[in-house]
Parts: sequence; C-alpha cells; structure tokens
Amino acid sequence: MTQIPHDHPRYKSLITREMAVEGVKKGITSTQGLIAQGRGEAFDYLIGEYSTESAKEAERAATAHLLLAKKPVISINGNTAALVPDEMVELSNIIKASLEVNLFHRSRDRIDRIIEHMESHGAENVLGRKGDSVLDLSHDRRMVDHEGIYSADVVLVPLEDGDRCEKLSEMDKVVIAIDLNPLSRTSQCADVTIVDNITRAFENMLQYADEMKNLNYDKLREIVDSYDNNRIITLAIDEITTWLSKFSKESGTKRL
Ligand code: ATP
Ligand code: MG
Repeated sequence: MTQIPHDHPRYKSLITREMAVEGVKKGITSTQGLIAQGRGEAFDYLIGEYSTESAKEAERAATAHLLLAKKPVISINGNTAALVPDEMVELSNIIKASLEVNLFHRSRDRIDRIIEHMESHGAENVLGRKGDSVLDLSHDRRMVDHEGIYSADVVLVPLEDGDRCEKLSEMDKVVIAIDLNPLSRTSQCADVTIVDNITRAFENMLQYADEMKNLNYDKLREIVDSYDNNRIITLAIDEITTWLSKFSKESGTKRL
C-alpha cells in the first residue's frame, strides 16, 4: 500500500482509495469497482467529505429499521468487503443480520475469495454461494440465496444497482441504500437513502446501534414512522448546494 502521511489534509479519502486498490490486488474488488469508488470520491468532494445532517438522520432511521427487522440482511460486494469488512461483521452481530455476497461481476472464485476474506475478519455463515433464487433481472445480481436476501424483510445495500434496488422494493422489502450520489436510481428508489461514504456511514450506524439496541418496539417504530425519505434526499441535495455556494464565495475571496 502506498504510504500516505497522517497529516495529509485528505488522509482518510486517500487511505480509502488505497484500500479499494488492495481489494483489486487481492481479487475481491472488480476493476470496475475502482471506477465506482472514483465516482463516489467525486460526490464526496461535493458534499464536503463529512456526514451531513441528512446522512445522520437517514443512518438513525436505517438502524431503527434494522433493529426492528425480523430477517435483516447486509448485502456485500467487492467494494464493501475491501473498505468496511470489520464494520459489517460488527453491525451484523449487533442487529443479528445475515451477511450475503451479491456481485454484478459474479464469479464463483470471487464469491469464495470475498467469503474467505470476510471470515478472516470474523464473519460466520456468510451467504451468497447458493444463488438458489432469482430476482426478475437480466444480470447476475438476480441470483440471491433463498434463506438470505430473497426472504429478508429489510436489506442494507451499500453501493447498489438501481435496477436491483427497484426489484427489492417491489418485493415489499425495506431497502436501505448507502450511496454518495443522491441522484442515482438507487438513491431515488430506496426507502432509506444514506448519502454518505460507506466508511462514515458504518461508523455512525455502529454508534447508533449501540445507543439504540435496548430501545423498545414503540420507540424504534416512532423513529421509523416519523422518517420521510423524500425530505432527506431533498435535504442532501440542498446541503451540496449550500456547501458549493459557500466554497464558491470563499474561493472567490481568495482569488481577489
Ligand atoms: P444506479 O444504477 O443506481 O444509477 P450507478 O450506476 O451510478 O447507480 P455504480 O456505477 O454501480 O452506480 O456505482 C455505485 C455507486 O456507489 C455510485 O453512485 C457511487 O457514487 C457510489 N459510491 C462509490 N464509492 C462509494 C463509497 N465509498 N461510499 C458510498 N458510496 C459510494
Ligand atoms: Mg449501476
């Protein structure tokens, strides 16, 4: 891994990039995954590289949904396995969720490698090898495990495809997306849209899960019922606009 000095102003972003590159070298992340990461970085730059109020509100509602769920599943792909393996294991333990590998660029080899990688980070019983049920899609993300995503009531889909997100919603599942692009089809169709970097989103959700794990049903229901995803997406876009106009004014001053 390239050495990034700790005092670099964009240390966290550069380390995350290096982790994605390591993922490719280990054969768990696809090369296309690097392009997705680059697109994410661009949106993160426009957001200001921090967890906004809208992101935190969505993360709180997502955590409440996961704690209320009867059968929650966290979907894993090559990018999330490279960037947040420990955090996915930790969250799945707190909320009692299954972990399932689901890939757009699916191959038996890569599924095995991702599962082994997750096991080396403490995961147990990772699903995704069977692919014994299908969603109504024409690409490989249609293949899911019956005991996992197919029968889940709440699915956390970090870095998802818009069309699979739509299918999961049509199946009456609660879909929670993490996507730095508030305009993507995934963001637009999810029930809870977290516009945040997955590295920050998992950190925040772990904290919320710890704070909320002993809340009773009524309290969790209250959080879920008062949540309005349309308002959160609008707010996420407004936050980018506000950040950009602040930035534009400040750099205008510097130029003068
Ligand atoms: P859609 O099919 O929903 O329109 P897309 O085709 O734009 O989405 P992909 O190319 O599959 O999406 O990329 C996945 C998405 O993940 C991108 O929108 C990108 O902004 C986002 N993304 C990439 N890296 C991260 C990250 N580290 N944290 C959060 N989101 C990320
Ligand atoms: Mg896509």
